[in-house]
Amino acid sequence: MTKYIFVTGGVTSSLGKGIISASLAKLLQARGYRVTIQKFDPYINIDPGTLNPYEHGECYVTEDGAETDLDLGHYERFLNTPTSQANNITTGRIYQNVINKEREGAFLGKTVQVVPHITDEIKRNIRILGESGKFDLVITELGGTVGDIESLPYIEAVRQFRWEIGYSNSLVIHLTLVPYLSAAGELKTKPTQHSVKTLLEYGIQPDILVCRTEHPLNQDIKRKIALFCNVNASAVVESIDASTIYDVPLLMLKEHLDKTVLTKLKLPHKNEPDLESWKDFLGRLKNPTAEVHIGLVGKYVELPDAYKSINESFIHAGAKNECKVRLKYISSEELTAKNAAEKMQGLHGVLVAPGFGSRGIEGKIDAIRYVREHNIPFFGICLGMQCAVIEFGRNVLGLKNANSTEMDEKTKYPVISMMEEQKKIKNKGGTMRLGAYACELKKGTKSAAIYGKTRISERHRHRYEFNNDYLDQYEKAGLIASGINPENNLVEIMELKNHPFFIGAQFHPELKSTVANPHPLFVNFVAASLANSRKK
Ligand code: GLN
Repeated sequence: MTKYIFVTGGVTSSLGKGIISASLAKLLQARGYRVTIQKFDPYINIDPGTLNPYEHGECYVTEDGAETDLDLGHYERFLNTPTSQANNITTGRIYQNVINKEREGAFLGKTVQVVPHITDEIKRNIRILGESGKFDLVITELGGTVGDIESLPYIEAVRQFRWEIGYSNSLVIHLTLVPYLSAAGELKTKPTQHSVKTLLEYGIQPDILVCRTEHPLNQDIKRKIALFCNVNASAVVESIDASTIYDVPLLMLKEHLDKTVLTKLKLPHKNEPDLESWKDFLGRLKNPTAEVHIGLVGKYVELPDAYKSINESFIHAGAKNECKVRLKYISSEELTAKNAAEKMQGLHGVLVAPGFGSRGIEGKIDAIRYVREHNIPFFGICLGMQCAVIEFGRNVLGLKNANSTEMDEKTKYPVISMMEEQKKIKNKGGTMRLGAYACELKKGTKSAAIYGKTRISERHRHRYEFNNDYLDQYEKAGLIASGINPENNLVEIMELKNHPFFIGAQFHPELKSTVANPHPLFVNFVAASLANSRKK
């Protein structure tokens, strides 16, 4: 029977529930349990697909094409197992399902209410993953902070759910903050006490408290929190700031979080978790033998969360190459043909980021021209690849003002154009080309050599594509399609001949890089940048 772990947050947002959930899941997985994590987000959008990255950070895309919260990226990177739509549910989706049922007549004669109809729908979504038979443990992270109006139905659903399945089949971990007041020279437990009191008002007694802190919690503090919050002292877990998120599983192991969880759920925990490969990764991450400087050209550079998966992919690829990747964020809006050399000085490789709309597009194109002409390793992702096509069209093929129809609908040379099936779509949410698609790599290309195989599958999120009318012209001049979608002939990945590394991918490789499986395109791009740094 599947057991359920709920993770709630108190005191403030941004405590890192996602990382704590992923770290606990990692420990349980390393003990041989089959674990998954799901996240409930209490906002009304159906999914984060229509949110600006400034609002919400990156939108993470799953194999089955769900646009989801970036925490799902952490779950996959830590566990190395894919998530799906069922792993991320928003209030909007819960209400949409209930309202659809109401229209179908499922509640005929009844008033449809938050309790029981919304809470029932939340409980149904908690059960979906557990009932799949694929998991021993399902960790459910509740977004938001306890006490928020919008979190209430979730807390109530968890209360009911625990009562229904029994208290030894589920537990609640509450994540709180223990702030340090420097004027008093003390760690303060009161915010934790108050947030537990709030949970108690809603009928939930947390089993374990994970306390975020900048300073170690001594036994006295732990005992005090335990006494006032009605938990065992061993259930008060210190979560001290870590230098990397990948340290957190080991920090939680030191605090016996996994053992405490398994004891409370009455599950065996005889063997220690097998974390050999994780430790090996950490060893390489923390002991680099070289350093490489890579530029990330994008328009959301003020907010690193906007490029979360790209960042983490570089961490995985850096560790694999035993080198420290230093990323320099370059705002594409501030980059011009004139200052490109100065902006990219000292960089050993340049990545041009995904994006939407025309803001900053010319800067991306200027950056690509510079790295193409100066033999600097280049990696373009989605819009980054499309910009490489535009740049090559304008500056090599002489297609004056070539563009994507996203930026210029009337361009004379639409080298990037809207996909046929996208043209009739009017709605914005969930209507892009989303999720995993197969791609056939051409034998003998650099891309095929990098993957070490010709049949690959990668995830997508876009509306525009390479315009095949121009393919011959491009290939003759050296920018070749190294991978094609076998079903619809779309160009999925391109590479430039006679360049140390010049690859553009229409898909998003960053969504599939994990600690256990660093993505080969990132690993090779870092290796090429490293080789370039040694040449200088
Ligand atoms: N805006 C481009 C498109 O829709 C690229 C999208 C992206 O970079 N994810 O095709």
